Amino acid sequence: MQPTSHLFPQLAHRAMGDARLQNVLYHHRLETPAKRLAALAEFPEFESTREEAIAIKTDVLNHLSHYLLQFESQVTDQGGQVHWARTAAEANQTILSICREHNAKLVTKGKSMVTEEIGLNEALIAEGIETVETDLGEYIIQLRGEPPSHIIRPAMHLSRAQVAESFVAHHHDLNPDRDLSEPSELLAEARQKLRQKFLTAEIGITGANFLIAETGTTVIVTNEGNGDLTQCLPPVHIVVTGIEKIVPNLESFATILRLLPRSATSQEITAYVTLSTGPRRKTDADGPREFHVVLVDNGRSEMLGSELREMLRCIRCGACLNHCPVFHAVSGHAYGSVYTGPMGAVISPQIQGLEESGHLPNASSFCGRCEEVCPMKIPLPDLMRKWRNRQFERHLGSAWPRWGIGIWGWVAARPQLYKKIAAMAARILPRLLRWGFVPLGGGWLRYRDLPAPEGKSFMALYKKQSRQRE
Ligand code: SF4
Repeated sequence: MQPTSHLFPQLAHRAMGDARLQNVLYHHRLETPAKRLAALAEFPEFESTREEAIAIKTDVLNHLSHYLLQFESQVTDQGGQVHWARTAAEANQTILSICREHNAKLVTKGKSMVTEEIGLNEALIAEGIETVETDLGEYIIQLRGEPPSHIIRPAMHLSRAQVAESFVAHHHDLNPDRDLSEPSELLAEARQKLRQKFLTAEIGITGANFLIAETGTTVIVTNEGNGDLTQCLPPVHIVVTGIEKIVPNLESFATILRLLPRSATSQEITAYVTLSTGPRRKTDADGPREFHVVLVDNGRSEMLGSELREMLRCIRCGACLNHCPVFHAVSGHAYGSVYTGPMGAVISPQIQGLEESGHLPNASSFCGRCEEVCPMKIPLPDLMRKWRNRQFERHLGSAWPRWGIGIWGWVAARPQLYKKIAAMAARILPRLLRWGFVPLGGGWLRYRDLPAPEGKSFMALYKKQSRQRE
């Protein structure tokens, strides 16, 4: 995906003016948090499981190389191959060389945000390889030529009618008797198209929700079964995932799994939890003949050694997006990045650079809801603040806030002058508000009300009330 995060203000304005999108977001905002609350009401061990999961991930991050090497050794022992990729380009080259080796013409894909992150589809298509997304949401947005708008609901920005329009536009042999207002018919239509692809693909590519070090197992957590068809039917299976997905053993995987679906889709467990350990054995009824795992770094090691380290606990559940007032207002495409919402505001600058993504850590009200709902208790507002600090230190962004803060700092260090200016501003502000003119505050007031102060500064009011109490 080509990042467009530098256009965040324009894209956000466009999204807020899109009535159809706002209607979709309205329902998302109403329904998703309520469903999560209902799921957690049935799970009284949520807090204790959260603490266990954080301890597991903290241990993993403290011994990341140990667990990754253990995983590699286990995969190799089972007959698979592990490939290490420092960058997105290295990951794509590795995957392309496997495809060339097998003379692949058709690749099916399960949903994977890491392959979006590294731009794998573009690389495969440029090589002349037909690349078909098989997750329903991903399939729909691929037809439309759009990036995902949510890490677990890639087509959440679309209404049912828009999905039907896309099928009519792209499925030229569409059965006219199909009632595309029915979700089951939309599903049947997509399924019919995808079945043939599953059966003829030479290579299946999936992501992984977990990598289990002790057994060399990769795990996908899905609801549609497309991931299983992608990884079992073609002769070659390639898993592409980030290095932070590693967990020590089956027990730790099971602990974190209790949090993931509840936080993501409010389900106790997803329809499929599929564990893959190596290629097909002689006794296996099915499965790929070759099993490759591409471990992608792409900035994660740098994050590990930095103040942003806690972000690597992320299990990509999407709860922070589902509870973010900014995401609810603008949706995912405004972020111009694969990773959106609060988690994207922390990850995207690492992957795309702060010059491209500088708006994203600023696109937050700092209400703290994201941190509250995050099953891994990642301090998202604090991590966004760290990006803001870096931005300030590197003189990125507009010079106005820097000058403003500089002037404010100079005045605030002189209490007498500060009091005089504050008292003067308190007297002038009500008049300016009556005239509808507030210097530097126009953007803020375009969408918000500011009740006129009563003409006295906070300190003057405080003194007055203190005197009255005495
Ligand atoms: S930051 Fe937390 S809430 Fe957001 S996707 Fe990651 S684990 Fe889920």
